Amino acid sequence: MSIHKYYKISDEGTVVRLKPFCPRCGPGYFMAVNYDRVTCGHCGYTEFKKRTPKKPKGEKPPTGTKPTGTKPTGTKPTGTKPTGTKKKSKKG
Ligand SMILES: [Zn+2]
Repeated sequence: MSIHKYYKISDEGTVVRLKPFCPRCGPGYFMAVNYDRVTCGHCGYTEFKKRTPKKPKGEKPPTGTKPTGTKPTGTKPTGTKPTGTKKKSKKG
């Protein structure tokens, strides 16, 4: 078992850390990387990876023209109820 498996030397010569360290145990304790989380085999610390929210397809881009509180001032019904004849249902 070699420590080199946890590192990757890029083409530029820089060392790329493949696995994250455990925040509890500190540097030196690598965490097992799963598809959606990383787990420390030393203390059992599990950290879920952040998922990037997918944008729904077919979503229209937000248009800048949006009516902001501009109410149409015009004919407004002001409590004029239609005076009709209500039918009273009479039981009997
Ligand atoms: Zn740990």
